[in-house]
Amino acid sequence: MVRQDTWCIKQDGETVKWPKNFKLWEFLKSDVAARKGIDNTPDDHSIVENLKHTAWILQELRNEISRFKNKDTPMTVSSGFRCKKLNQAIKGAKNSDHMKGLAADVKVIGVKPADFYKFIKERPYLHDRISKVILEFDSWVHISIAEESTKTQFLIAKKVRKWGRLVTVYESDT
Ligand SMILES: [Zn+2]
Repeated sequence: MVRQDTWCIKQDGETVKWPKNFKLWEFLKSDVAARKGIDNTPDDHSIVENLKHTAWILQELRNEISRFKNKDTPMTVSSGFRCKKLNQAIKGAKNSDHMKGLAADVKVIGVKPADFYKFIKERPYLHDRISKVILEFDSWVHISIAEESTKTQFLIAKKVRKWGRLVTVYESDT
């Protein structure tokens, strides 16, 4: 596991802070990687920069829902970065934003995933740097981050049975 502080130093030597409530390790940890002996350390500094960018957007969402609920409302990252091997192991999409460090699957403590999804959807002022919000199987919310201003896609992922197999379908919800 890489040390947070060594990865916080920019190439030009300037120290870049992570937001208050998110740490790099939260975006790298993975039960599947641990179980399969996969080293899920980013091999490129730009991925760490992207993760930090993602963390700042999540911090904004966390602040906003805390303000709304009038109490500190933590958010957990169940999946952040995925190296190629890990992405294959979990059968992720071939060009998944998780592989670039520009996505996170999150849960908010004490808030149903469907309600958190709706919370984001109803607040366009939060959408600026978010390219995709997916309510996945009613269990967590996937958030993809854009490097520039973008239109946000809202999707609902479900498992449906097709020819006797369970497949994932994404319904547009915009
Ligand atoms: Zn995801």
